[in-house]
Amino acid sequence: RIALQLVSGEEEGTTWDEIGGAEDIIEDLKDRVILPLQLAGASTSSLLNPPRGILLYGPPGCGKTLLAKAVARASGCRFINLQVSNLTDKWYGESQKLAAAVFSIAQKLQPTIIFIDEIDSFLRDRQTHDHEATAMMKAQFMQLWDGFSSSSDKIIVMGATNRPSDVDAAILRRMPAKFAIHLPNSAQRKQIFEVILNEEQISSSVDLTKLAASSEGLSGSDLKEVCRIAVLRRAKETLDKQKKERGDFGVMTVLNRDPLEHCDLE
Ligand code: ATP
Repeated sequence: RIALQLVSGEEEGTTWDEIGGAEDIIEDLKDRVILPLQLAGASTSSLLNPPRGILLYGPPGCGKTLLAKAVARASGCRFINLQVSNLTDKWYGESQKLAAAVFSIAQKLQPTIIFIDEIDSFLRDRQTHDHEATAMMKAQFMQLWDGFSSSSDKIIVMGATNRPSDVDAAILRRMPAKFAIHLPNSAQRKQIFEVILNEEQISSSVDLTKLAASSEGLSGSDLKEVCRIAVLRRAKETLDKQKKERGDFGVMTVLNRDPLEHCDLE
């Protein structure tokens, strides 16, 4: 219940336009994942088969989950988000049932992407969990994974990690397609700002090139938080100013006057 999240491949999910500064990686994903999915069944060459496993690795907040959802949407795949961090002890006890359920759903809904965030902590012995339960789940997951990959099923397991060196060797072997997602450089940060602020009214004095240059080391997620704080601060200032000018008419009245008007990111 809490470990699985299903996202439809067509109407929901992320579009490429929602991801800034990632042209190269998007082109690579289109060539190596989406094209083979489109060609599946149309050719007898097994070299054209989609990869059965894909690893996205890099620092937190750099868009790995966004990219995985966008691949699902662009390729018309259903997206099954297996949230490993939500797996409780109870679920670990039920591990075999969970693995079987995931693949059974994936098979019924295919083409499907099974997304496993923090794949380094998945299928790995944990001190807090029973070694035997983990080992059983791992064995079954691998077996199911190997089972579909030899058939014509269109199911891709996509893993994401911040610690690629901690990913189980047996899992790495099953993920021949690996994509590094790095922290954005200055030009990429500018593009991310543009995506995040796409629908905001920002003052003409805001220089996104300057902002991008001065935000070295920040991830896409950090940049979003910076924008959120800036917009909230300006909204608060506007509310305070309006309260002073007109007397306190209550927050709802003031909010109706568009607190984000003339929002200045600086
Ligand atoms: P983690 O490793 O912590 O799971 P992640 O690499 O999967 O992180 P996401 O969950 O995809 O990162 O990104 C978090 C949020 O940061 C996104 O929902 C989005 O709002 C913002 N974000 C990150 N990268 C980008 C980007 N390239 N363009 C636009 N927004 C971005």
